[in-house]
Amino acid sequence: MKYYLVLMTVLFSSTAIVHGQTTIKQANSSSANPDNAPVFEPIPSVVVPGATFSSPPSDAILLFNGKNLDEWVSEDDQSPAKWTIANGVMTVNKASGDIATKRKFTSYQLHIEWKIPADITGSGQARGNSGIFLSGRYEIQVLDNYNNENKTYVNGMAGSIYRESIPLANPEKKPGEWNVYDIAYSDPEFNEDGTIKTLARVTIFFNGVLVQNNQPIEGSTSTDTRHVYVKHGPAPLKLQAHGDKSAPISFRNIWIRE
Ligand code: MG
Repeated sequence: MKYYLVLMTVLFSSTAIVHGQTTIKQANSSSANPDNAPVFEPIPSVVVPGATFSSPPSDAILLFNGKNLDEWVSEDDQSPAKWTIANGVMTVNKASGDIATKRKFTSYQLHIEWKIPADITGSGQARGNSGIFLSGRYEIQVLDNYNNENKTYVNGMAGSIYRESIPLANPEKKPGEWNVYDIAYSDPEFNEDGTIKTLARVTIFFNGVLVQNNQPIEGSTSTDTRHVYVKHGPAPLKLQAHGDKSAPISFRNIWIRE
């Protein structure tokens, strides 16, 4: 019940933003979580997934084919991406930082598979942390939360919109096994003056289980600051090299349909 109250508050807040043409910051002042702070309930139910992995359809753009990082650059300086490739898999190189696609996208369907190392260590947000940044700004969290054993704030679990929206369930596989996100993302629209016109929205299937359902995004998902929108156009997809000390995670089979 409490969750639905939170959800309704967020939806109401979003509507006010769209029709009132106010800034997110003003509109969020009455939000249930105005500062995008960590929250700790409700804890998503564990679900055992039954998903199989899918090959790209004919009109997909392959962003990672298992062989090279030709579609990617280091986000910092736009130099060629320096993450590691072995056995058809790319692995985060934490020292070299985040990577971003050379291509820019607006709204899309994204398929991306990721794996936490079997010997992962650490706790909370320092256990297999990475992330998929839609429009380079809105993070869908990647973290080890298998079987709800790694305690952290629930709006920072795998399948969350980071510090915004709690996943509806937890179908994560155990470290050493591959997970998949299938994401439908709608880009936000902005007014001429830079204020938000239409919120970004995202639907996420996590190992075939719905965890975000056409969920409004409240703004750029930074840590420890209230989320706000800053006007942007087509933007790269970004993958996170998180600075924690746990072993780096891996990605494979990344494709996108605009
Ligand atoms: Mg992250």
